[in-house]
Amino acid sequence: MARYVTAETSASLLSGRSRLFFILDYDGVLVEIAPTPDMAVPDSRLLSLLARLGQREDTTVAVVSGRAPEDLARLLPVPGISIIGCHGAAEVCGKEITWLVDLPVPGLSDIAALARWLTAGRRGFLVEEKGAAVALHYRLAEPAEAAYVLRELAAHAAQVIGACGLEVMAGRRVLEVRHPRASKGAAVTELVARFPGWPVCFGDDYTDEEAFQAVSGQGTGVLVARADRSTMAGYRLSSPREVRRFLELVTERKEST
Ligand SMILES: [Mg+2]
Repeated sequence: MARYVTAETSASLLSGRSRLFFILDYDGVLVEIAPTPDMAVPDSRLLSLLARLGQREDTTVAVVSGRAPEDLARLLPVPGISIIGCHGAAEVCGKEITWLVDLPVPGLSDIAALARWLTAGRRGFLVEEKGAAVALHYRLAEPAEAAYVLRELAAHAAQVIGACGLEVMAGRRVLEVRHPRASKGAAVTELVARFPGWPVCFGDDYTDEEAFQAVSGQGTGVLVARADRSTMAGYRLSSPREVRRFLELVTERKEST
């Protein structure tokens, strides 16, 4: 369980650190989870806040998200920050995307085709092909229908998943099948080795637990969630609004010193 804190408390807890390295998930951390992924867009204040933090000598910013790297390049046109997409499988630099795993990933197009076939004619589902992962979003689907589709997908995809060594991850109303090396934990470990500063890692989802584990003992994990749950993170902030407040407080404090 994580200790619940406010933006003010968490900012003061970190005030003694001379350099901070913020590692931020996108959906549910920088922006509220939206009914569909394309509705979760950042406002200009958030973009300028990230840019200010990215420009500072004593803070480093990385966004590590499960989103397709093309989405992140479009959503976060922020110079001076690192952007890692598709759960660590791709790095975004401006409009350029570097894949860190070989594409196409064997088996994923079969999974996408199966998910499309199972959800054809059903409302509230979205199948997203993200290069090294396929996501089945069901936020807007009827719960009973979502349960049926997930059960059928698990039954029909098991052989391909096993034969191709793919990984299955359940997120917040999304099921993802991904390349086994598409891992937020590995991405965060690599970032922490590359950049200086005390790592402060923010995530809201079960996929972020591997990122919390990567900074465990050598950084601070912050779960962003309204309710407590079992987590590797040491602290909990209630919402993306609190994350933003925290980042603003850190910026103001550092600018006044
Ligand atoms: Mg998230």
